[in-house]
Amino acid sequence: MIWPTPINWDAAEGWGLNASFVGMFIGSAIMLRRESRPPVKTTRVQQSESRLNSANKSLQSGRTPALSRSRASLVQNVCLALPTTAQLLQRGRFMQRTSDINVLSTSQLPSPAQLFEELPKSAAQAEFITRSREDIHRVIFTEDKRFLLIVGPCSIHDLDAGRDYAKRLAKLAAEVSDRIMIVMRVYFEKPRTTVGWKGLIMDPHLDGTNDIATGLRTARKFLREVLDLGLPTATELLDPITPQYISDLISWSAIGARTTESQTHRQMASGLSMPLGFKNGTDGTLGSAVNAIKAAAQPQTFLGVNIDGQASAVATAGNLNCHIVLRGGSSGPNYSPEDIATTTSALKKAGLFPSILVDCSHANSAKKPELQPEVLSAVLQQITAGDESIIGAMIESNLAAGTQPFPQPKSDLKYGVSITDGCIDWPTTEKLIRDTYTALSPRFA
Ligand code: PEP
Ligand code: MN
Repeated sequence: MIWPTPINWDAAEGWGLNASFVGMFIGSAIMLRRESRPPVKTTRVQQSESRLNSANKSLQSGRTPALSRSRASLVQNVCLALPTTAQLLQRGRFMQRTSDINVLSTSQLPSPAQLFEELPKSAAQAEFITRSREDIHRVIFTEDKRFLLIVGPCSIHDLDAGRDYAKRLAKLAAEVSDRIMIVMRVYFEKPRTTVGWKGLIMDPHLDGTNDIATGLRTARKFLREVLDLGLPTATELLDPITPQYISDLISWSAIGARTTESQTHRQMASGLSMPLGFKNGTDGTLGSAVNAIKAAAQPQTFLGVNIDGQASAVATAGNLNCHIVLRGGSSGPNYSPEDIATTTSALKKAGLFPSILVDCSHANSAKKPELQPEVLSAVLQQITAGDESIIGAMIESNLAAGTQPFPQPKSDLKYGVSITDGCIDWPTTEKLIRDTYTALSPRFA
């Protein structure tokens, strides 16, 4: 067996052959894409390529080659003079595919401008969003003594249940609005520790079809409904393109524990129009959130899409309405008076206004939703004792308690039960909000 190196193209015909060379060449021939037409004058190599092509066609069609030889001898014959992949690439005759190798498909979405036209917001909705953002701004900077309560399902997966919840919450919110500013969690994007359902925008049919265009439309429609009930809206912004489609309908947003450290999300936050909370990291450390607030306050330039959906360089002014959200971490909860004091001094040291919102769910309740009232009560006690840094809290609440396994057939899902993090039920939520109202009375005496 001869394995000839270096290659002498003109002397290629007549080389020896072994099985691996045949295999390699067939592989190369299948994988390579022809980039240009061969020149008119054919060389020996080109003749061999052409013979290989007809051989391949014969092999693929299963027809007996016209040369009336066995397949093996045909392949052997045409491969004798053929070059390796590397050799072909060196000669610039073929281009190896180097991108989109793992991409199965791309389908164009409507542009943000198209969705605005299809599902516009009313002047009243725009006015309400603006007012709710200003109110939250005043709470963050303690110009408004009200307690900011971000409350609602971990995620919206069933619009009927979401509507039912929103109506109940809107009624209660109006009753307590002089002491508590209630904002409904309308979460459409879910970050996953590994994999799982990524929220109603990504998979609105809950069946893995990932119909994002419908998801974006559904999100806009539902947000408008919530606003029309007189409820400000809160969401987590996860995908950096999503805000272009829905952020005009959002009063407050979160950057989650898994993305607070991400430069992409900090840049995005610097251009967002609403007040925004950065969660502490999943490990419970504060540094990433403190740095995120600083980064988001600065002007930034980054890649994004404009409202026509075109890739654009986006230059931002910086978002000065950002604060920290304490959600606990792998080392335990972080809402104790000591944790609040540590956070306050970390924010002051970084030159930031010390505003803290406590997430009563997630690692602050060890993912046991029923512990949330206890956490909130401990937070309210700190306020009563004179704390001035805590501006509000977050509660994960739904019509019914707990969570249910997902995926499972949509028809088997229990009404009003979360398919992501566990929640407290409506009666518990209502009592909690009324108790909070009472607990805040000293502040308004
Ligand atoms: C959430 O708010 O549902 C959430 C995923 O939060 P975190 O980023 O704190 O895990
Ligand atoms: Mn959650």
